[in-house]
Amino acid sequence: MAEKSVAIVGAGPAGLIAARKLQALTPFKFTIFEKSERVGGLWDRESFIHPEMMTNFCRFTATFSDFAWENVDLGRPAPVYPQAWMVEKYLKGYGKLIPDECYEFQTCVTRVDREGEMWKVCSTKDGVEKTRYFDFLIVATGYLQHPKELRCEIEPSIKTNPLFPVPILHSTKYRTLEQIVPLDERSHDISRTILVIGGSHSGADIASLIAHQASDARWGPNGNESFGGVKIVHVGMNVLLPIPGMVWDKTATHVSMHPLEFTLCERSTREPEPLTFSFAPASIQENQILLFYYKEIIEGGAGDLDFTEKLPANVALGDRYYQCVQDGRIQLIPGAVTRLDKGKTPATITARVKGKDGTDIAIDDITAVINATGFNSAGSLTFLADDIKARLEFDPTNTRLPAVLNASYMSQNPSIPSLALLGFVPVNWGIIEMQMRAVANRWTARPFAEDAAHVAALGTHMRHIQAALRDPARRDEIPQFLFGDYLGLMEQAARELDMEQIPNTNSAFTGFFCSARFIGPGETKREALTTMHAVQQLREDIERRNPLLAYVAFTGLMGRWTSAAYDVAAHPRRPTAPGFDLEYVVVISGGAGGESTLVARYTEVAYAVTLWATAHRGSLVTGPLICTLPVDRDANGEVATPAGTFVYHVDFRGSRLGGFRVTRRGAGAADETYVFRRPEGRG
Ligand SMILES: Cc1cc2nc3c(=O)[nH]c(=O)nc-3n(C[C@H](O)[C@H](O)[C@H](O)COP(=O)(O)OP(=O)(O)OC[C@H]3O[C@@H](n4cnc5c(N)ncnc54)[C@H](O)[C@@H]3O)c2cc1C
Repeated sequence: MAEKSVAIVGAGPAGLIAARKLQALTPFKFTIFEKSERVGGLWDRESFIHPEMMTNFCRFTATFSDFAWENVDLGRPAPVYPQAWMVEKYLKGYGKLIPDECYEFQTCVTRVDREGEMWKVCSTKDGVEKTRYFDFLIVATGYLQHPKELRCEIEPSIKTNPLFPVPILHSTKYRTLEQIVPLDERSHDISRTILVIGGSHSGADIASLIAHQASDARWGPNGNESFGGVKIVHVGMNVLLPIPGMVWDKTATHVSMHPLEFTLCERSTREPEPLTFSFAPASIQENQILLFYYKEIIEGGAGDLDFTEKLPANVALGDRYYQCVQDGRIQLIPGAVTRLDKGKTPATITARVKGKDGTDIAIDDITAVINATGFNSAGSLTFLADDIKARLEFDPTNTRLPAVLNASYMSQNPSIPSLALLGFVPVNWGIIEMQMRAVANRWTARPFAEDAAHVAALGTHMRHIQAALRDPARRDEIPQFLFGDYLGLMEQAARELDMEQIPNTNSAFTGFFCSARFIGPGETKREALTTMHAVQQLREDIERRNPLLAYVAFTGLMGRWTSAAYDVAAHPRRPTAPGFDLEYVVVISGGAGGESTLVARYTEVAYAVTLWATAHRGSLVTGPLICTLPVDRDANGEVATPAGTFVYHVDFRGSRLGGFRVTRRGAGAADETYVFRRPEGRG
């Protein structure tokens, strides 16, 4: 085959996948144009994802089939849910597998035209324009590269006054608490309300990040009490269901916890016959089924399920957000912010909210506003010439689905076979790999049996969703995850691409689905085997000793608990020593001893919870180790401490920590048992 050339625009995850698959599956030479200085896209620390954010997907989903997390030196094994800085390292490691000469950094693609059979790519670097020609073009410029403006009325005196003391900033610009909460040495517990607008993942992620940073500023070793009064109000259009990262395994015979994807991406949850990717507009019935499904994952049952709910439920995946809502440090209000006015007190804003139930709500005393109302994906395609956009059925006003991409698993429009747009509908990395395999097969004329009728039906569906997105009256038809049938898409693609499965069970119809489960012709297996081995090891660990129970108990502990005699408050802070993943300052009040303070730590490598004294009374600095808290398979434990022997039982409701019971064994005296629950109105 004659050597062909490929231009890849963007060196985020999608651009890197494109390059790696071209390396593995084609003889083509390629150039990666990247406007920043490095690979990584949104995960680069200078970009939009805060390095401290935790991924919403576990490491077995946020992985490439040809690069195991084990290759990345984090100074420790990768946690089940890595932080963004770890993903950045992972992507940098992956990017090194591509020869340096393939990259053109600090090079922004400004215009792309079709000239004859070639793609004419114009770019600028250091102000110098350059034009080059390629046989094929891959657009990997990212679905979430262009933040949306805040769309609500803002009182002119706020809008036009750059010195107005209430900061209003986009979530992607947020880095440190000082940007929104000035330190005040004089006062204690100053009440500050941060308004986060936007009811999907970026709103949830930023709200929980701020909540954790505020807690750290208050309870870190040099904690300042003036940060104690930070409250976060999160307003979003939809009913938002926070879902924890670790959930109960309803197939287990005892209380057992595993990563959320072991439920969501478990093949046996679907019929034992070959799957085909399914898609449909949202409907009331579908919405209710989804609500029931999610409630069961969270609560172990339907709980207070609202069967009159009409809008599709939005879920927010991730432990931090889930726990912050559970313990009340994030208050969630379903509705739309319609206006921001000067507040009743100086240096504050009042927000008007149209509640989802139609009521008008005023939120007073707001001291900072974070806009997390999403991104305009159309913005990432502006450099394409108009005739190309027309063939993609491009709709510049459509911020979520600007083009019709119904071939090659939602990466190509059949009218322009030499163009691919990777990751331009929201899909995870495993699907982007499938997209690129399909594209490589087409471009090398390998046999590839994509079902033509299915492609046509998907095109019709995409046009339907585009129309619904344009029409506010049709909001109910739009699912949160536009194309959410991950299992169906992966399995259909694997079948049509003639891929081999690395089974993690003895059947193709059971087990966990992730990118490493599927290997295409011409691809090497080694890395995928490493990842699948890690999945298997975690499964065996869970089966043998149920270690994630300790994690769920620990994360669930965050916030306030009360019993007949004692109150406990667990305040999260950044771990103050290496080797620990999570840390709380635990304040115990009540009883004869007054108030005492401990430090509790969790380390994922050992799945261990430890308790530590503080350096001295009143200090927030960690002192000596008191004990390790064992939690057995049935969520019980016993520990001997200088203060006596304690027997405890952790009480789960579904995936949620419902409470815990502690019995202090009396030395000669009667046992004392305390049952801890969330204070009235919580949990
Ligand atoms: C706040 C936030 C949290 C997220 N959390 C998760 C998560 O937990 N898990 C998950 O899987 N996904 C998450 N995502 C989704 C994220 O979009 C994807 O993981 C992934 O980064 C998409 O990869 P990409 O390569 O398509 O795009 P990007 O990562 O956006 O990369 C696009 C690249 O193209 C470059 N580029 C753009 N235009 C040009 C041009 N004209 N010329 C040259 N270069 C250009 C950009 O500089 C960038 O490097 C999150 C997104 C956000 C915003």
